[in-house]
Amino acid sequence: MASRLYRENAIVLRSYKLGESDRIIVLLTEFSGKVRAVAKGIRKTRSKFGGRLEPFAYVNVQLHRGTSLDVINQVETIDAASSLFGDLDVMTEASAIVEAVDQLVPDREPVPNIFRMLVGGRKTLIERPSPMVVPAFLWRLLDAEGLRPELDRCISCGEPDSADHPLASIDLERGGTQCRNCRTGVAVSAAALDVMRGIFGGRLGEVLDEHHVPGEQRLGVPVVNEVSALATRAFEMHVERRLRSVAIFEIHDGA
Ligand SMILES: [Zn+2]
Repeated sequence: MASRLYRENAIVLRSYKLGESDRIIVLLTEFSGKVRAVAKGIRKTRSKFGGRLEPFAYVNVQLHRGTSLDVINQVETIDAASSLFGDLDVMTEASAIVEAVDQLVPDREPVPNIFRMLVGGRKTLIERPSPMVVPAFLWRLLDAEGLRPELDRCISCGEPDSADHPLASIDLERGGTQCRNCRTGVAVSAAALDVMRGIFGGRLGEVLDEHHVPGEQRLGVPVVNEVSALATRAFEMHVERRLRSVAIFEIHDGA
């Protein structure tokens, strides 16, 4: 009989209470996808798990496969969530990242690429915090889903971006940028387009340096807000569309 024990590197996405003293821990594992597992006795004062299963903790876990829920046997910390404690902005950004992954990834579907992105996003947030980390992460999640918007030419007439014929708007429903003549959707600045191209091109660090505003510690606020609002809207649209398509499948299955 195959062993029901397995070991995985994982990041804790969230947890919720179960019964008197247990919690269900939602983990994104490296090779088994999103897993819900019971941490027995974790809410007791002298739990063997201590604080090692806090959201955003990077751990190595030994799990016992169950019929509905798995059970966590052992936890070793790779990098504690406590490296984030003390900076409220960073903690808020960390929550946004794990929540986005939790919303996007279905249970038990291996997504090693998203796991690697999460490890990378987590590292960036700890080592080089910036308000651009969350929007960049959302855009890259969408990219991993095959939803990279067109940013170099007008999606209506095909004209490339140029000084004479600049791109003026982005239409997220239709999948990209548009020129002044064709514009629909919302206005987009050249700086925001530049930042977004940098994100998709894996040059986020460089872009952050280029747009660094002298005398300010961080990227110019209007650009951050613009890229951030677009990323949030695009992500919400994608999650809503997916939820709707799941609902339709369920209706068909039940018929
Ligand atoms: Zn056009």
